[in-house]
Amino acid sequence: PLPPVSVLGLGMMGTALATALLKAGHPLTVWNRSPSKTGPLVAQGALPADTPADAVAASPLVIVCFTTNDNVGETLATVDFTGKTLVNLTNGTPAQARALSTWAKKQGAAYIDGGIMAVPQMIATPAAYVLYSGDEQAYETHRPTLAALGGTKWTGTDPGRAALHDLALLTGMYGMLMGVAQAFALIRTENIPATEFADPLRNWLTAMLSGVVPGVAEAVDSGQHLTDVSSLAINQAAFPNFMDTFRDQGISSDLFAPMQKLLDRAVEEGHGADGLSRLVELLKLTN
Ligand code: NDP
Repeated sequence: PLPPVSVLGLGMMGTALATALLKAGHPLTVWNRSPSKTGPLVAQGALPADTPADAVAASPLVIVCFTTNDNVGETLATVDFTGKTLVNLTNGTPAQARALSTWAKKQGAAYIDGGIMAVPQMIATPAAYVLYSGDEQAYETHRPTLAALGGTKWTGTDPGRAALHDLALLTGMYGMLMGVAQAFALIRTENIPATEFADPLRNWLTAMLSGVVPGVAEAVDSGQHLTDVSSLAINQAAFPNFMDTFRDQGISSDLFAPMQKLLDRAVEEGHGADGLSRLVELLKLTN
């Protein structure tokens, strides 16, 4: 028989995680602050726990997925975790993960922090994966169980590493999605249907990303920022065209104004011949 698992926090994501574990055949205990959310899982064979402590006591592997890491501390503050592995899949910061790891060890737990790279509908499909960091021995023990949620990606024994990777991936995503919003806002100023623009936009972004990301990474690691692709100087020279067009077409330039500032600074500081990778250096806060 497969090892039992407890899942605490049955929001959209927690319910998807719990459902995947049930479907994989694990005996499952569930707890949620609002007890009504346990209903559908209990109907599929999960056992409801009355308290967080009961849920933790029921299984060697305890997975939590609340709104914030503050909720983790509040809900589990006094719970005995002796001999348990706590996998925290709540989104948070590296510093929070490290603090929770220290706290969990005092409560007797082996602590693993995780970052879910999926929406609930993707859980248990090949497209989903979860980043993990923290107690490596506990991770190796429970990896076969965690694999029911999606791919497993180990990022290191520093418990903050998974959150760092998670936030870096989401940073890239948000930067891109804000650009998508600006692009649609611009195209809509002339009443062009957004659906008509969707394919060219997606194809352009896909080509740019696969062309640019590996080269920037190599330049960042080598410190060789000179480019034969597209210089910061030529980008800086073109950038007022965006700012002017946003103004002329009546849309905000708030998202893009800081980019103009960064390009101006790069050129002023003598990096005009360098490529995009130089900006990675300029984004560091020194002094
Ligand atoms: P939901 O809002 O659907 O669920 C939030 C869960 O947290 C509920 O179970 C809620 O309980 C519980 N909760 C909130 N506050 C407390 C508290 N004070 N004490 C105890 N439990 C509490 O959010 P999601 O399920 O979407 O997200 C959960 C986590 O997963 C978040 O950290 C999110 O960033 C992360 N995540 C979500 C993704 C997504 O696509 N949805 C993708 C990747 C990560 P109650 O039902 O009682 O309100």
